Amino acid sequence: MRRNINGPWRPRAGRRRGADGELELNRLAVLGQPIAHSRSPAMQNAAFAALGMAAEWRYEAIEVGPDRFEEVVRSLADGGYVGANVTVPHKSAAIAVSDELSEVAREIGAANTLAFEQGEVRAYNSDADGFLRALPEPPGGARALVLGAGGAARAAVWSLVREGAEVEVWNRTELRSRNLCAELGGSPVEAPDAGSCGLIVNATAVGLGGEDPFGVLPLRAEQLGPGQTVVDLVYGASPTRLAEAAAAEGAAVVDGIEVLARQGAISFQIWTGREPPLDAMREAARD
Ligand code: NAP
Repeated sequence: MRRNINGPWRPRAGRRRGADGELELNRLAVLGQPIAHSRSPAMQNAAFAALGMAAEWRYEAIEVGPDRFEEVVRSLADGGYVGANVTVPHKSAAIAVSDELSEVAREIGAANTLAFEQGEVRAYNSDADGFLRALPEPPGGARALVLGAGGAARAAVWSLVREGAEVEVWNRTELRSRNLCAELGGSPVEAPDAGSCGLIVNATAVGLGGEDPFGVLPLRAEQLGPGQTVVDLVYGASPTRLAEAAAAEGAAVVDGIEVLARQGAISFQIWTGREPPLDAMREAARD
């Protein structure tokens, strides 16, 4: 039985000393497959540099497939690492490998942040709070449409339901949106009316390859406009077509990099106990 973590996080107790009595480097990593594209190392190392911590803290990317995930996590936890971020395809497996679990991670069924203490693994989910903090205003009372039913959609739906938004969920594979809503709340919809929603969240992978989202997603550019917020969790080298179109129509736009920086800032705080330098992290993630 996994123990619950009470409170938002529990900072680790001090740095370890090596056999020679010297303080050891605080090591962190992001684990995923593929991982070469990850912006987390640049973002977290920029945060250490901004706070003058770069000589003592280092964050790297480690490519690991599902067959070796648990073994790698255990070896990092036993090998003096402070913690790790976990990305596709390991966010559910991160729950299974944990000894202690935050309430948010348990309810969403996914963890993206691990903290190691004396070989034990604590699992957190910073995607949900990161998503909420990226929004221009609290979503309570808003009518929200979430597109997608994968891991990113789960964190968005959980957060919005908790904050009191009226949440509709559309997904290409309808069974998945029905199952998601049965578990986390919200209402599955087959033909949403995006124009009537104050908040629209693209949590599908559509747009990743630069493709036109209109026609693929149940949205038309002319349904977007002032008074609405469009969150596109997808991010790449340039603004997505959805983000560009939403901005052109006068909607407020939150892009995937902003959400990435916000979740990374929460992970940073979990590991270091320090106030994250959000501007430096955002800038590094955008580079
Ligand atoms: P996932 O679990 O694999 O889910 C993918 C989702 O996209 C599913 O709902 C899937 O629908 C849908 N989808 C894929 N291709 C589609 C298409 N051609 N037409 C319609 N729907 C399609 O992935 P995820 O982890 O949720 O990630 C989703 C996106 O969010 C990715 O682009 C990821 O990079 C991004 N993301 C961003 C952040 C951030 O911090 N900015 C964090 C997490 C994820 P089906 O169920 O029908 O397959």
